[in-house]
Amino acid sequence: MSIVLHVDGPRWRAHLDRTMASQTGLVPVVKGNGYGFGSALLTAECERLAGHAGVDLIAVGTYREATAALDLSSADVLVLEPYRPSLHGGLAVLTEPALVHTVTATADVHDLHSRVPGARVVAEGLTSMYRHGCPADDYLDLIAAAGPGLLGGTLHLPLGAGHLTEVSEWLTRFPAVGTWLLSHVSPAELGRLRTAYPGVTLRPRVGTALWLGEPAALTVRADVLDVRPVAAGSRAGYRGRSMSAGHLVVVSGGTAHGVAMEAPSSVATLRQRAIVLAEGALEAAGRVRSPFSLRRSGGDPGAGTSLWFVEPPHMQVSLVHVPHGTAPPAIGDQLDVRVRLTTFWADNIVLS
Ligand SMILES: *Cc1c(COP(=O)(O)O)cnc(C)c1O
Repeated sequence: MSIVLHVDGPRWRAHLDRTMASQTGLVPVVKGNGYGFGSALLTAECERLAGHAGVDLIAVGTYREATAALDLSSADVLVLEPYRPSLHGGLAVLTEPALVHTVTATADVHDLHSRVPGARVVAEGLTSMYRHGCPADDYLDLIAAAGPGLLGGTLHLPLGAGHLTEVSEWLTRFPAVGTWLLSHVSPAELGRLRTAYPGVTLRPRVGTALWLGEPAALTVRADVLDVRPVAAGSRAGYRGRSMSAGHLVVVSGGTAHGVAMEAPSSVATLRQRAIVLAEGALEAAGRVRSPFSLRRSGGDPGAGTSLWFVEPPHMQVSLVHVPHGTAPPAIGDQLDVRVRLTTFWADNIVLS
């Protein structure tokens, strides 16, 4: 029936409150699939946080997302994709006064201000991330073009530590920018930067560490729809894959939910590469470990056993195999599911 994200509300919200309280000026990021929660739920959560943590600005990925966020939010809404006249010039949402635009080129600011006089912007600098941004040599022109509409500068940095030098260069070179929005800068790095630049306001922009920073509060479970004993060599699925003895289980959750859809891997260590190789070899042999496992609760000796796919997941369900000798679940039971929440769409979210 459903694959459901269960959120331990008090625990999750305690983490959100702690994070907001410990990181002054934090700008929550609400984009894409809403980190598995959906953007509407997270925007509503920002409203709750606004009540006592002073959230005055949230960030969305695109202008399309901004339209929805503006309806639900009392805060200003920063769009992370840069304003491009050829792509965004005709959008009705442009004139919304609560919108804050990201700009990376002088001509784009001029265009924006010709359509929306006084539109508020942040000026993005090009970092070692090398995604969007204005090169440092052109940045003075960009902030001059932004004029009084300039809310601040913004830097999007690669994951990991070691940003101090890069951020410091921008802060030192452009002292006229009084506020900077920074992504992927740790609280410790922020602390050091604040000490070094006491006159500058630094605001971290955070998605993952905020919404997904308390993994113990988040569990995904899927309903078992069918259970069938199978003999060794019996076949199932679109491709007639043969199975060993045990039980075939049909469980909610498939490609439509992002089940077993990994983001392109970014394996770095030798150990990670070895795992990918080993899993690739099993995959080539038709054996793929699924993200489903027997529920850990209940004290059953099979609890926690991770299950193998019978074949790749279908749109709405998956076929998994419970080996002989392990007690199968019953129809109506749930399996635990390991998912990457940034590529997951739950059928339902239960927030306690
Ligand atoms: C997505 C994004 C963020 C948030 O990143 P997390 O890793 O989820 O914290 C911050 N800034 C920019 C520009 C982004 O695109």
